[in-house]
Amino acid sequence: MTESDLLRRHRAVMPDWLSLYYADPIEIVRARGRHVTDSEGRTYLDFFAGILTNAIGYDVAEIRDAVQAQLDTGVLHTSTLYLIRKQVELAEQIAELSGIENAKVFFTNSGTEANETALLLATQYRRSNQILALRNSYHGRAFGTLGITGNHGWSASSLSPVKVSYVHGGYRYRSPFARFSDADYIAACADDLRDVLQTTTSGDVAALIAEPIQGVGGFATPPDGLFGAFKEILDEHGILLISDEVQTGWGRTGEHFWGMDAHGVKPDMMTFAKGLGNGLAIGGVVARGEIMDCLGANSISTFGGNPMSTAGAKAALDYLLDHDLQGNAAKLGDRLLAGLREIGDRHGVVGDVRGKGLMIGIELVHPGGTEPNPPAATVVLEETKARGLLVGKGGLHNNVIRLAPPMTLTDDEAGQALDILGEAIHAADR
Ligand code: PMP
Repeated sequence: MTESDLLRRHRAVMPDWLSLYYADPIEIVRARGRHVTDSEGRTYLDFFAGILTNAIGYDVAEIRDAVQAQLDTGVLHTSTLYLIRKQVELAEQIAELSGIENAKVFFTNSGTEANETALLLATQYRRSNQILALRNSYHGRAFGTLGITGNHGWSASSLSPVKVSYVHGGYRYRSPFARFSDADYIAACADDLRDVLQTTTSGDVAALIAEPIQGVGGFATPPDGLFGAFKEILDEHGILLISDEVQTGWGRTGEHFWGMDAHGVKPDMMTFAKGLGNGLAIGGVVARGEIMDCLGANSISTFGGNPMSTAGAKAALDYLLDHDLQGNAAKLGDRLLAGLREIGDRHGVVGDVRGKGLMIGIELVHPGGTEPNPPAATVVLEETKARGLLVGKGGLHNNVIRLAPPMTLTDDEAGQALDILGEAIHAADR
């Protein structure tokens, strides 16, 4: 990659700053398993998996064969007006896995579209445009989803078609209730929800939308049971619960198939994307049939549920289930969390290690306090890369290292990543 390649990227593609993720940016040209190779021939262990799009890993024979078989038919797409067999099979499977009663699926191409669809359904079903979201949330980059994003760095527009109120709950580390016990934290957040409902809404709110673990917000992980407490309050008002499972779905959190399952409640709707296609563009909403059927007018997506994406996604979902990748995420997630907490105990720059399964955040602070330390996160990003490991960086203050490798991760690879992270965090601690 030359400087002129970067300049062309900078001039032609929005947003221009993305090409600066690393001081010496990379171009991935090949990938196998959990490893990616850049245009300079350097190979990395991928602990960010294309921002969690690669649930299984790269170049999986079963998925390649399914996509190839579809390619061989000559039908990349026809029209979602016609019957697409794989789409139906995939919808049935997702409806069943959702645990939602009488569930139906609407397919989209992305998480943003999935959440836009959920907003459309909830507001229409409840005849209200009032939405509750969590502080520090991220749900996408279209007009409605930007309106429910509680993170200033990603709120590109303050104009919104929905009226949103934000509640506490997602980002515990920097909340006023950070030092509370789990039970007291949940009680304080539930009180806040009641207060927000009474003071900032007219009561007839359409839905509360939440990520079970906040992704863009720095893998912020609320205590189990929080959304159970929320649901009791929502039910008193007939308010729907939407779980944004774009990052937490498909077993990534290890202990459960859906992130919301940790809270002992079934949401009315779930949205999904990313990992389902293992790199192919697919997303969707799964919801109770009566909610899905509330639209009077026709609603269709030209590409949502297309033959290529659904063939690949069906193969990916089968693979994920057949190989118990959820179990692997639980086992290796525990190992990584324990190892990172040990590293954290030895380094003042680590303020918080959190997450579940293969979705782990390391919040970096100035030693001795909790002040965010974004430069330390940049050091970890660069030092891990120099040692052959790709990780993510993010969070409200851009000071959180995010780890989310493919769920086929091996024990050896987890060990290698821990060694490298130990060295990189040590370098950032100086
Ligand atoms: N919801 C969550 C929780 C996400 O993390 C993201 C993407 N980072 C989205 C929605 C939007 O998905 P997409 O980028 O596929 O539109």
